[in-house]
Amino acid sequence: MKLDVRTIMLMLSGINLLGAGMMALISFHANNVRGVRQWALGHCCMFIGIFTSTQLSPDWPLWILATIPLVTGCGFGFIYNGIQAFNGKRCNYWVSAWVGLQMTVQSIWFSVAQNDMRTMLLANSLLAGCVFAACALNLRLKTTQPLKTAYGLAAASFSFIALMSLLRAMNIYLTPAEGIRLFAQGDINPVFLILGGLSQLAITLSLVLLITFRLVRDLHEQASYDSLTGAMNRRRFEDEASRLLARAVRTGEPLSVIMIDVDFFKRVNDHYGHQAGDEVLRRLARLLHAVIRSEDCLARYGGEEFCILLVGTVERGAAQLAERVRLLYAELHIDWKNDILKSTLSAGVSDSLTVGADLTALVGAADHALYRAKNAGRNRVALHSETHQPA
Ligand code: GH3
Ligand code: MG
Ligand code: MG
Repeated sequence: MKLDVRTIMLMLSGINLLGAGMMALISFHANNVRGVRQWALGHCCMFIGIFTSTQLSPDWPLWILATIPLVTGCGFGFIYNGIQAFNGKRCNYWVSAWVGLQMTVQSIWFSVAQNDMRTMLLANSLLAGCVFAACALNLRLKTTQPLKTAYGLAAASFSFIALMSLLRAMNIYLTPAEGIRLFAQGDINPVFLILGGLSQLAITLSLVLLITFRLVRDLHEQASYDSLTGAMNRRRFEDEASRLLARAVRTGEPLSVIMIDVDFFKRVNDHYGHQAGDEVLRRLARLLHAVIRSEDCLARYGGEEFCILLVGTVERGAAQLAERVRLLYAELHIDWKNDILKSTLSAGVSDSLTVGADLTALVGAADHALYRAKNAGRNRVALHSETHQPA
């Protein structure tokens, strides 16, 4: 099978142009996802570099010959930078600058000064392979599904293109010097380029998949957590609770619920303003997050009401935790402009041993106990079983 290297490289540049356009479009609409702009720039540079090299003519001035590897190398570096940004790290732009300069120096030195096309192609293939391998390494992150799949696919695509680059370098090394020209047909060279082009396509698609899944995850989190306090919203809480309740029924372990309500919270808003009230809610949520265990669930149930579902805990244990929270909160003095915000809270507690493993019943019983705590003078914890002795 005869394959034309120049045509394959044109196809490669087309894939990069497509990737650049796609990334530019995405960055326009999803500008909150970091890394997309670097990927757009990287694809664009690779398109310019690869496309220009297919049109290469020996009469071109040296500065144009030098620009091709510079732009291509920087393009590889920008793809690496995009991964750094996507992972929430700072971009090391000197990496792109270094790859671009290194590729320029070795291209000019070997091809123009030494007239050694073989070493030039070998060195450039090795350099590209190293950058792609570094990209693959940076994509090996511990994360949850579905992002995990997209990270895995992107890492596999980068590993594959790195392998192709290294195999191409090895092939060039084993080919006699006289058989090597820039667009030499060779036996294996076109195959490596085709496989490289396909993995380039796989890279672009897996980067798009990464962005999509990141947006899906962000949307899911926005739909699951309260933006003010970071606690779960009711819908997410009910989903988590039904999962934990089903497990509790299977294993026979108890569950308990604490309902918490800030006392006279309306006064905080009325005296210090709504923003002060918001700060109180944020600080209370932080306190609650700090005292519960990772397997417990904390939800903002209403305006200034929080609900905690405690796994493997009976009413007495939950009441002890609620009492600790009550004391800690009473000691919490929040600096607010020139004032100190202070308030108390009341809590009601219930457990599955007394009311059964049913969320509505558990929350209803804890709410009833909370109502009693309020009526008894606030700043206290009331237990459901105090008034409802089992028959
Ligand atoms: P009680 O001791 O009986 O619980 O009295 P309270 O004033 O805390 O109870 P009430 O239910 O009358 O007031 C709750 C207030 O919470 C009313 C509402 O304006 C306020 N609130 C609800 N959500 C938010 C919020 O997101 N931010 C702020 N700052 N206030 C909120
Ligand atoms: Mg209240
Ligand atoms: Mg309330």
